[in-house]
Amino acid sequence: MASRVDLHLHTTCSDGLKSPEDIIKEVKRKNLTAFAITDHDSIKGFLEARDLLGENDPELVPGLELSCSSVNGDLHILAYLFDPDSEALKSALEEFRIRRNQRGYSMVKRLNEMGIEISYEDVLEAAGTAAVGRPHVAEALARRKAVPSYNDAFQKYIGDGRPAYVPKQNFTPREAINMIHKAGGLAVLAHPMVSYAHERIEELVGLGLDGIEALHPDHKQAECDRLKVTARRFRLVWTGGSDYHGRGNRTGSVGSEKVPIDCLDEMKARVSQKRGSD
Ligand code: AMP
Ligand code: ZN
Ligand code: FE
Ligand code: FE
Repeated sequence: MASRVDLHLHTTCSDGLKSPEDIIKEVKRKNLTAFAITDHDSIKGFLEARDLLGENDPELVPGLELSCSSVNGDLHILAYLFDPDSEALKSALEEFRIRRNQRGYSMVKRLNEMGIEISYEDVLEAAGTAAVGRPHVAEALARRKAVPSYNDAFQKYIGDGRPAYVPKQNFTPREAINMIHKAGGLAVLAHPMVSYAHERIEELVGLGLDGIEALHPDHKQAECDRLKVTARRFRLVWTGGSDYHGRGNRTGSVGSEKVPIDCLDEMKARVSQKRGSD
């Protein structure tokens, strides 16, 4: 069988349900040659996995999925092959974590003002090792029986535009791409067919984008093909992955996207080319 990789996986260090250790087991079971743990705004899962791997295990590619916002809307930018010990990266992620905590705290405060008894500790408990997000506020509300279910929490309180909703203070795509480059990595637009992100490829290329994720479970075959053509047109690399979260069938399973090892080889070639020209 041809060598395959999966460059988009989530763990319990963001909103995935599988620990880094379990992800490694799945990766081995599927006989993947290489994989990237791309948690949202955190490399904790990557670091944990790195410590667990031995010499003959599949190759772990440094990865990360950054949430970005700008006046043109939200999008996700994947970072690959960066230096995990980069100070620029560490301080940016730390700032991100602080902003996420402040936002979670603000939502709890609003809920309290509406008479709902929930504490920030409840939210932290729901988050576990993950960066605080709305899913954890929703889970805390459901556990406290302040709402009948997780989804009701969004409908009633924290869904976009609902009374206890506080918008994210994300990095802009420009900030994210610059930070990734400072850390020596490649910036790749995640799932371009989600939320019309593909309409912004040219704008992002202007900011230094290196690649686009062509293969993703939310992309139809024709869309994958078209994205590969787009990548060639803008001289970008193309990547792919399952975006596995371990939650039902929302996204793929580990290795579900047939991503050839050549993809990773091209990414590595691009990194060395960029480092050489600095
Ligand atoms: P955050 O990044 O903290 O704003 O949380 C966004 C996440 O909340 C999304 O990825 C979804 O998992 C979840 N979410 C957002 N809106 C809804 C909704 N209306 N119903 C259920 N889950 C939602
Ligand atoms: Zn996610
Ligand atoms: Fe994403
Ligand atoms: Fe993802």
